[in-house]
Amino acid sequence: MLRISLLNVPIDVVTRTDAVDTIVQMLASSSQRHVMTPNSEMLVEAHRNKEFRRVLQQSDLNLPDSHGLLWAARYTGQCLPERVTGVDTVRELCKHLDAHTSVFLLGAGDGIAEKAAKKLQQKNPHLKIVGTFSGSPRQEDAEAIIQKINAAKPHLLLVAYGAPAQDIWIADHLKHMPSVRVAMGIGGTFDFIAGIQKRAPQILQKLGLEWMWRLVRQPSRLPRIFTAVVVFPLLVMHSRARVQ
Ligand code: UDP
Repeated sequence: MLRISLLNVPIDVVTRTDAVDTIVQMLASSSQRHVMTPNSEMLVEAHRNKEFRRVLQQSDLNLPDSHGLLWAARYTGQCLPERVTGVDTVRELCKHLDAHTSVFLLGAGDGIAEKAAKKLQQKNPHLKIVGTFSGSPRQEDAEAIIQKINAAKPHLLLVAYGAPAQDIWIADHLKHMPSVRVAMGIGGTFDFIAGIQKRAPQILQKLGLEWMWRLVRQPSRLPRIFTAVVVFPLLVMHSRARVQ
């Protein structure tokens, strides 16, 4: 798989279709894989946080989850074909899973993973969901959560604790969940599928302005949006200037 590098983080050159095909192939193999959905804020976090940067560098598939990444690729003379979000990938992936592939939904607020599971099940009657749990990324809760997951024996584990917590949790614990072939950090995906949060209208998504929609609906995200739309481009410009 072709990968580019942005701020020392590898990003896979994939479309959503490629991403779904790759994850389906990963599920058919016997190795354990970590799939991440990096966006602009996550790359800024990785720039400051060495542990998180290492997790992104070791992940098996990094999907370009924000328009910021597409811009950064172009600005540094590289190319990414399209934005591949966690929520769109999960929705599409569920259509392609066979009835032998089991799924566990971990994370999000109380009852939200359950609601998301119901919605996914309605859309994909063949889908085998073997468990949901809100849980928490805290170290002291890990053992009980891992026991729950191991009792359900899922092949695909979707983890929605937000970044960087969800991906550090996966990197730390994947090896203790032997049934899991693919663990995927997916941010706010369950909130969208459950209908708790609404996606921006298509036109805003196409124009790369989904951040404006999220700012209006959740003003508390302002610091995160500032990081994505101001700090990230400045870091990319600075890093390009340094290598020239
Ligand atoms: N979350 C959680 N436990 C935590 C922190 C966050 O379950 O300790 C959930 C939160 O409820 C939300 C998801 O993690 O469903 C992260 O959502 P966010 O909007 O941060 O993700 P984004 O889509 O922006 O990456």
